[in-house]
Amino acid sequence: MKHALTVRDLYVSYHGTEALQGISFSIEQGKMAGIIGPNGAGKSTLLKAILDLIPRDKGEVRLLERPLKNVRKSVSYVPQRNDMDWTFPINVLDTVLLGTYPELGLLRRPKKRHKDWAHHCLEKVGMEAFAKRQIGELSGGQQQRVFLARALAQEAELFCLDEPFVGIDVTSEETIVAILKELRDQGKTVLVVHHDLTKADSYFDELILLNKTLIQKGPVSDILDPEVMMKAYEAQLPFLQTKRGAI
Ligand code: ADP
Repeated sequence: MKHALTVRDLYVSYHGTEALQGISFSIEQGKMAGIIGPNGAGKSTLLKAILDLIPRDKGEVRLLERPLKNVRKSVSYVPQRNDMDWTFPINVLDTVLLGTYPELGLLRRPKKRHKDWAHHCLEKVGMEAFAKRQIGELSGGQQQRVFLARALAQEAELFCLDEPFVGIDVTSEETIVAILKELRDQGKTVLVVHHDLTKADSYFDELILLNKTLIQKGPVSDILDPEVMMKAYEAQLPFLQTKRGAI
């Protein structure tokens, strides 16, 4: 079985403070995996370091069994909505067309077949009717669906999404999950940073449980075991108990 992702002994720090220490794991192709852990555990940092968006202090990352620079076209990324500038003047169709740029090249105008393909990807996420709208005019769920359409337009093998379900409506979440599962069933690999544990068991095949170090990686049922989860969420327990007591 081929690996979609291999991370070996990864260390990342911000201004001398380590955010990730000695992370090693791999994901086989054709899996849908969630990166979970408490706030500040380093989930987004892990995804960004995997995608070379932030520097690593140490460690090796291979995507589709190659260095990222050789497989960029095959790896798509949907950033956290907070990380984006929603005032940027671009319409929905042009946003999706950006997904075709690895093939098109930045300086060439999109041809009819690129536009047809972008429309098809928009249809897939139920956003075809919004093609001419400015991206900043959409709701959070609609924006997230458009960014998934951009990833679909790229025809990637590995789909990486950072907290795609935060602040979005139920229909958008269901649409996105259904598409991600379909991609997985087609043999693509999906990696999602996710902090809401309630649906983790129905969304993912495997989980990467993180809290600065890798606590454990494995099938969902192994990781959602209370003893395993305790190792990552221990520090939050007094808060959780207080909250429960207050209800
Ligand atoms: P998570 O996604 O699990 O909530 P993050 O990866 O965002 O965690 O953050 C991990 C740690 O790194 C946190 O302590 C956070 O404050 C810190 N951190 C994240 N981004 C930066 C940054 N750009 N500069 C400084 N520290 C950061």
